[in-house]
Amino acid sequence: MKYVDLHLHTTASDGSLSPAELVAMAKRAGYAAIAITDHDNTGGLPEAAAAGARLGVEVVPGIELSTEYAGLEVHILGYFIDPGAESLSDLLETALLHREERNTRICQVLQAAGVDVSMEELRETFPGAVLGRPHIGQVMVKKGYVGDVKQAFREYLGKGAKCYVPKVNMPMERAIRRISDAGGLPVLAHPYQYELEDAGLRTLIETAKGYGVVGMECVYSKYDEAQTAALLALCEEYGLAPTGGSDFHGASKPNISVGTTKAPYAYLEGLKELKQSR
Ligand code: AMP
Ligand code: ZN
Ligand code: FE
Ligand code: FE
Repeated sequence: MKYVDLHLHTTASDGSLSPAELVAMAKRAGYAAIAITDHDNTGGLPEAAAAGARLGVEVVPGIELSTEYAGLEVHILGYFIDPGAESLSDLLETALLHREERNTRICQVLQAAGVDVSMEELRETFPGAVLGRPHIGQVMVKKGYVGDVKQAFREYLGKGAKCYVPKVNMPMERAIRRISDAGGLPVLAHPYQYELEDAGLRTLIETAKGYGVVGMECVYSKYDEAQTAALLALCEEYGLAPTGGSDFHGASKPNISVGTTKAPYAYLEGLKELKQSR
């Protein structure tokens, strides 16, 4: 049986492995194919493609966009995107701008709370990364303000914590349409992470499908077999392609490891058929 992992983060967002290191790890773990899905960034894709060609691992170009839907942050994955597409570069530029503003604000609020973290320090520590709260948390750990990133979120950065700053996300509809415009296949990521009741989840699926989503993540590191089976049934019902991946981030999220989330290669074949039929 051939397996794939279609949800992986590198140092181009908040993962701790470089794209080449990640491909090598996937090779060691025995995956036939992987997708790189960094948050709001395609910067890691060329290095990953080169490493994949060198090591004999199929690498699917992907992305994960943070979007806003009914007051929730919903993540949309995009597979087989053209990283150079104009529809995407403009969108990512705006996302980056919103992140920069927010990160700057978080640093100010932290400084006021006696925690010395600066934008300069973040840029130096994580060159080339699309920066977010996980990076801020890691600097806080390194400088001894907290014991781990979880504590940084609980006490400072998370919703309801004392230095929380909300993020402006792009509307879900725009993200889905722009991924399609960039030749990509938009997929609803980790559907149970939004803590919706059955009816709410169905409304999300129907809305996302209406905007052009063609698939849904059913195999996920945090989901058990029963949850995966329920999501597969929803895919069947709504005519969506199932996908699967770990959401591995390396040391930045040590509870998720590569090699334990195994999605069948047939999921990738399903995506390829959709891509070809466009
Ligand atoms: P941002 O994009 O800056 O809002 O940061 C979101 C990232 O922080 C996502 O990758 C989340 O998985 C991660 N995150 C959210 N809450 C926590 C937490 N309590 N501990 C560790 N990471 C978290
Ligand atoms: Zn992440
Ligand atoms: Fe996500
Ligand atoms: Fe992710």
